[in-house]
Amino acid sequence: MTDAPTRPRALTGIQPSGTPHIGNLLGAIEPALALQDSHECFFFVASYHALTTQRDPALLRERIFEVAATWLALGLDPERTVLWNQHAVPEVTELAWILGCLTSKSTLDKAHAFKDAVAQGKTEVINAGLYTYPVLMAADILAFDTNVVPVGKDQKQHVEMARDMAQRFNRIYGETLVVPEPSIQERVATVPGIDGRKMSKSYGNHIELWLPPKKLRKRFMAIVTDATPLEAPKDPDTCNVFALYRLFATPEQAADLAARYRAGGLGYGHAKQEVFELVDARLREPRERYLELRAHPERVEAILEAGAERARRVARRTLDRVRTAVGL
Ligand code: AMP
Repeated sequence: MTDAPTRPRALTGIQPSGTPHIGNLLGAIEPALALQDSHECFFFVASYHALTTQRDPALLRERIFEVAATWLALGLDPERTVLWNQHAVPEVTELAWILGCLTSKSTLDKAHAFKDAVAQGKTEVINAGLYTYPVLMAADILAFDTNVVPVGKDQKQHVEMARDMAQRFNRIYGETLVVPEPSIQERVATVPGIDGRKMSKSYGNHIELWLPPKKLRKRFMAIVTDATPLEAPKDPDTCNVFALYRLFATPEQAADLAARYRAGGLGYGHAKQEVFELVDARLREPRERYLELRAHPERVEAILEAGAERARRVARRTLDRVRTAVGL
């Protein structure tokens, strides 16, 4: 791989904030992996971002491993795609300092993560790391000459801040940083949890990716449904089971199940079994690969180390340009 990409460079990071769930799979991981054919992909485990909230070293180590192994099990190809731990490329924190010196307080006051914490009265969780999170995220993006950042709608603002910082830097010091574009994944649905609200670890309504089949089935059986009797016709469009089913099914499978809902005689238990089987089949091979990687953590470590070396080469060059530009 050269440092001058012929394909646009896409970068994304995933926080090691807990075992990945099927919302992360459909909303973030699969869309990012799909870019491997058209983009030069840089994917990292956002370990520094995790430090804004996590205080348990053993758990953090475990979660970092889990995220890396998840990417690999689901199809990240380390021959084509660079995968590394954020903390293995310290140039990013150096760039964050320099960008922070160009970022006004009023800009950071408007950032979602900070505003949400204030709105919820969670002042005890607001540390300088959380407050300056958009600066570190901008450094993550700009250190690697990123062209495209695939993000959910929730992260669009942070990418726009990174663009603003790059443009401001270039205005003051001359053309130095690549200005990235957000790529908003409009088509990616919000995956509902077992209670119908957005699937989220914080609601406890999530379905973890790597549960063994028996436990996975139990989670699907716990999907909340109404009390319509078995023989009565049912409305697929208001059913939490169907909402998950259609995200994994082919259009034909979804149409078929919808017709059986409307015809009556289909119990929710059967529908739950069907969605479980669909998801279980989709996860079977990745799960085997994941368990294999868990049994051989040294393979994951070796990939992360090789990725860090490649990533660091790119970041070092950017930082050399940046240092020269600012007069250091
Ligand atoms: P989180 O760990 O909750 O911050 O999620 C990481 C990323 O996964 C988000 O930025 C989204 O892109 C995606 N994601 C999380 N939950 C969902 C969901 N319920 N539906 C779709 N995408 C999701």
